[in-house]
Amino acid sequence: MKYYSTRDKSVRMEAAEAVKMGLSRDGGLLTPCEIPQVDEDFLAGLVPLRYQERAAKVMGLYLTDYTEEELLRFAENAYGPEKFDTPAVAPVHTLDAATHCLELWHGPTSAFKDMALQMLPQLLSAALRKTGEHKTACILVATSGDTGKAAMEGFAGVPQTKILVFYPKDGVSAVQEAQMTTQEGDNVGVCAVVGNFDDAQAGVKRIFSDETTRKTLEDRGYFLSSANSINWGRILPQVVYYLSAYCDLVRDGKLRMGEKLNFCVPTGNFGDILAAYYAKRMGLPVGKLICASNRNDVLTEFLRTGVYDRNRPFHTTMSPSMDILVSSNLERLLFDLSGENDAEVRAYMDALAGEGRYEVSDGLKAALKEQYWGGFCDEAGTSAAIADYYKKGYLMDTHTAVAASVMDQYRRETGDRTPTVFVSTASPYKFCDHVLAAIGETPAGDGVELLDQLHGVTGVPVPRRLAALKGKRRRFDLTAEKAGMDGVVLDFLK
Ligand SMILES: *Cc1c(COP(=O)(O)O)cnc(C)c1O
Repeated sequence: MKYYSTRDKSVRMEAAEAVKMGLSRDGGLLTPCEIPQVDEDFLAGLVPLRYQERAAKVMGLYLTDYTEEELLRFAENAYGPEKFDTPAVAPVHTLDAATHCLELWHGPTSAFKDMALQMLPQLLSAALRKTGEHKTACILVATSGDTGKAAMEGFAGVPQTKILVFYPKDGVSAVQEAQMTTQEGDNVGVCAVVGNFDDAQAGVKRIFSDETTRKTLEDRGYFLSSANSINWGRILPQVVYYLSAYCDLVRDGKLRMGEKLNFCVPTGNFGDILAAYYAKRMGLPVGKLICASNRNDVLTEFLRTGVYDRNRPFHTTMSPSMDILVSSNLERLLFDLSGENDAEVRAYMDALAGEGRYEVSDGLKAALKEQYWGGFCDEAGTSAAIADYYKKGYLMDTHTAVAASVMDQYRRETGDRTPTVFVSTASPYKFCDHVLAAIGETPAGDGVELLDQLHGVTGVPVPRRLAALKGKRRRFDLTAEKAGMDGVVLDFLK
């Protein structure tokens, strides 16, 4: 199967090339030329399989230049017992007959980014072989917390790759900083940047576009690449768990094969909920896709009015991985819903770059309404959902709480009784301070000490990798000014 750009359909390439490039040269996102279809027989065939086997089968439909044997091997590496703390990998937790929670945080960094970032490095490393690339890929990441650690964990030890992560010095939680600075592996590096996330991100972008640096690195045998969620190699592994959740519910007698299921997804860059859309487009019986945002409600407004407007205040919230005003992956949805109209998509994206705003056609507005329902939840609503669900016996993190709250709103407003899965994207232990406060406790201490406090109060097990942080040796202690980031890169890639 070939891949093409959302901004120019004449640009065509194999999957391996698309994974290696990450982004098309015209700025568009690389997207499959057709969406493979599955029927009930295919789904029934997945039901008895393990997660790893399901992943190989589903990804194989899209990655026709990779063998199924290869994909199975990657899935065993990515989702095996060394990495994931449950053999189910992405278990579905049932709250009541029509309400289920898909837990995507059982991987090594306790956030859902692991689902894709355990797989992408292997897809990339194979892509280098398949395309005859001899240079080493150096992944540069600017992170606000979750992505950096998950990317380091995924790329650690992967041949022909190196990874360097920049995080804002005072912009990540104590647990997140400890996770990154203790990372093992010979091919990893991490550096704090004096400033905020935008400073780190701007620095990385500058290095990417600096021709002199690029040339120097090329002479040393490197090329720069990115592990951002616009890479198809990050979206595809996420399609798998929507089909897998459906199959689990059928296997456990909680859903009839063919019955519709809604998904409610806490959304930032629109990657996770885009994967749910692809699962639906493949033929999985999905009803509504419920898009949950925090106070940064740009997507809620867009899904309700058809106007995307980034000209608004940026709010820092207790669900930081969803604090985002430009949801890059929305571009793939617009492309598909417009009937793969690359000119139309290009016009919207030009308007977004120019005026920070665009309004979609009436046809697109109707298509969006049919597929999606958008809602948001403020800080008080997030805390209230944590408290409410904890009383019912389920402890959740701040991002998951946004999804739960918006799912409840959707049900109240529409009366829709379709069984629904809401997606849980992080362990509550990654955000101990807010979770403790929400359930009526006063956080005592900072960072890793709060793990014990939350465990003492709730009895919920602490993910073993987070518990192990306490005794871990700090390996990295590098800090740079924004202007010094180039030097850090050149030093790292000696
Ligand atoms: C990245 C992230 C999200 C948002 O996912 P997108 O694919 O960017 O929409 C939600 N929750 C957590 C915990 C995350 O790390």
